[in-house]
Amino acid sequence: MSDRTLVLDGRKTRWDEGDMPLRLPPRSGAAFTLNAGSTLRIIDPEGEQVADLTAFVRNDLREWLSAGRSMDYANRIYPNKGDVLYSNRSTPMLKIVNDTAGRHDFLLAPCSPEMFRKLYGIEDPRPSCFTNLVKNLAPFGVCANAIPTTLNLFMNVVPAPDTGELTIGVPHSRAGDSVSLRAETDLLVGLTACSAEKSNNGSFKPIDFSIRRSSGVGG
Ligand SMILES: [Zn+2]
Repeated sequence: MSDRTLVLDGRKTRWDEGDMPLRLPPRSGAAFTLNAGSTLRIIDPEGEQVADLTAFVRNDLREWLSAGRSMDYANRIYPNKGDVLYSNRSTPMLKIVNDTAGRHDFLLAPCSPEMFRKLYGIEDPRPSCFTNLVKNLAPFGVCANAIPTTLNLFMNVVPAPDTGELTIGVPHSRAGDSVSLRAETDLLVGLTACSAEKSNNGSFKPIDFSIRRSSGVGG
């Protein structure tokens, strides 16, 4: 697999990190390589739209972005500017270098057909973050069972102080808000525009992303 490969909505293409930005249509996803030192910017172009992100270490896909490790080391459930996000082996994978939205979480798994069925009684086939991640990561050798709890960008999950019961609120993100994540090692990244109505204030919107290569960093 080339280190300049993008799979967008199931279709593989070659690309250059400088070719960005790209748009994920509503309820779609992509997977792509991200080189160490490069900065991935994820933009909510219309506001109140969640994007799920996961990542794997490129030279060993058994190492993945860990919600548990990242929350443990940050000592909070809302990742914020300056936080480093860690792998299951406690390797730094990404650093949040900028954030204009201010509310994200690492608590909930990507929406999936089973989740739509269990929580909402929806049986009909429909897109989901999980199926979009599976579809786009598969060409890189990632299987469905390997997809972990995602970093839920722009999602607004509020726990009750006494019971921990979770309420999914309207995202804080407004049109044009963005989060920038710098790769701390060579990565494979999966990204979606979320397909769950409740997480996105009842509608489905696109997600944009761009990548800026760090000067002086090769690859
Ligand atoms: Zn979703």
